[in-house]
Amino acid sequence: MKKLSKITLDFLNRSPKLFIGNEWVDSFSSETIPSVNPANGEEIFRIAEANDQDVDHAVDAARKAFHKTVRDMNPSKRALKIQRLADLIEDHLEPLSQLECLDNGKPISRAVADVKAAAAHLRYFAGWSDKIEGSSIPVHSPNIMVYTRREPVGVAALIVPWNFPLVMAIWKMAPALACGNCCILKPAEQTSVTALYLANLIKEAGFPSGMVQVLTGGGKTGALLSHHMDIDKIGFTGSTEVGKKVLEASSKSNLKKVSLELGGKSPNIIFDDADMDRVHQSLVWASFYNSGQECTLGSRVYVHKKNFAEVVDKLVQKASELSMDSGLLNPDLGPLVSKEQVDRVMGYIDSGKNEAELILGGQRKEGDLSGGYFVEPTIFSTSNHNAKIVREEIFGPVVNVTSFEDEEEIIAYANNSRYGLASAIWTKDISRAHRFAHRIEAGVVWINSYDLFHPAVPFGGFKESGIGREMGKSALELYTREKAIWTQL
Ligand code: NAD
Repeated sequence: MKKLSKITLDFLNRSPKLFIGNEWVDSFSSETIPSVNPANGEEIFRIAEANDQDVDHAVDAARKAFHKTVRDMNPSKRALKIQRLADLIEDHLEPLSQLECLDNGKPISRAVADVKAAAAHLRYFAGWSDKIEGSSIPVHSPNIMVYTRREPVGVAALIVPWNFPLVMAIWKMAPALACGNCCILKPAEQTSVTALYLANLIKEAGFPSGMVQVLTGGGKTGALLSHHMDIDKIGFTGSTEVGKKVLEASSKSNLKKVSLELGGKSPNIIFDDADMDRVHQSLVWASFYNSGQECTLGSRVYVHKKNFAEVVDKLVQKASELSMDSGLLNPDLGPLVSKEQVDRVMGYIDSGKNEAELILGGQRKEGDLSGGYFVEPTIFSTSNHNAKIVREEIFGPVVNVTSFEDEEEIIAYANNSRYGLASAIWTKDISRAHRFAHRIEAGVVWINSYDLFHPAVPFGGFKESGIGREMGKSALELYTREKAIWTQL
């Protein structure tokens, strides 16, 4: 096992606390939740489970800070603090990546890339802090002047999942802070360690007391936040099922603004004229990256019938070569995040065995890895578009490959989903590529590539994959509200 740094080990020995008003405080509930290393199933940490009093405490701290210091903070000061936080994240690359790797299970080099991506995201949004502009609107009357302002929403609760714990937190926190809000970050109960580590850096970066709180806890804590009458906004990333509950909680409480980044079942479409070398290099990662625990996973692979056998053979070969081990040993794939996730994925694999041909995998890893949550890369093939493994998000290393014959047919297959997060097409025919891009019902289209991201490019889903766009200028709309000001001259 790679040696863990002293900072990492010391952090894991901390007692479970919540971060409210720039202080570490005990929870009112005194309840805790174990955090487990998914590579071996051993408990590494315990987090506090915030209850209703803790949520009230955090909201109160955030609300007071918003009125006292944050709302009127000089935007360029906000930018400097966000930049400083990015610097600190880079300075703490080693402990942050080690903690992410231990807590989530991902390979250490991927955890390092995630920490760097989090810092880059903050830098991009720091640049927006002093460019959040309104407009002046001509209303065809010389005696009337109208202008608009984009104001912060106020107190934003940010509820995030476990697959990219730090990155998901920063995707929300960076625009929320740039727009001048106070935040309550609720990480996923399975992977809260890096969010807690981040809290210390937030204080060190000089954010005023109450601008950011970190509240740990499970679904109950998330539900308390989404029902709260004094929270103005929920930025949520997670499953479509829970996203709908968050929306419902808003409608039953104070109609807080809600943005949702939800599940996906993305089509990855390979035409017969595609550059096959590039396809073979990309496909294995589009299918199994992060052990398949990725919202954009290309879990529906469609291959033109001429190349079907070649593509499937190569995918089987490449997937069989992927190494799997504890993330600290930097394999290609780490374990799934939890026992629950293994059970969920194995349930889908069992149903796949009844409804499709199993081409590769389909088992948990035995031997040395049997104590951890490892599932083999699994490939099914069925042309039944209503099979459960083709319709539902599995969120594990499982893909289905199907052949197709023509463009009309494949667009219909691709759009035959309740989800609409991402999609990809591989072809040298530029007209076909853009025809597809315009007709696919998905928030992201990759042409001759997969899984490209940049902080400046909007990201989000169509249909049941979400509401709103994170990243890019679009994210500013999620964390501001527009006001029109009329003056009779
Ligand atoms: P999840 O929906 O179970 O949990 C997400 C978060 O919601 C966690 O913090 C959880 O504690 C909290 N939560 C649970 N019940 C709640 C409730 N009733 N009210 C409020 N909050 C509640 O999702 P998960 O299993 O952590 O993550 C996997 C899902 O996330 C997948 O569906 C995946 O596609 C999706 N995801 C989407 C994106 C995206 O950008 N579209 C990115 C990553 C993950």
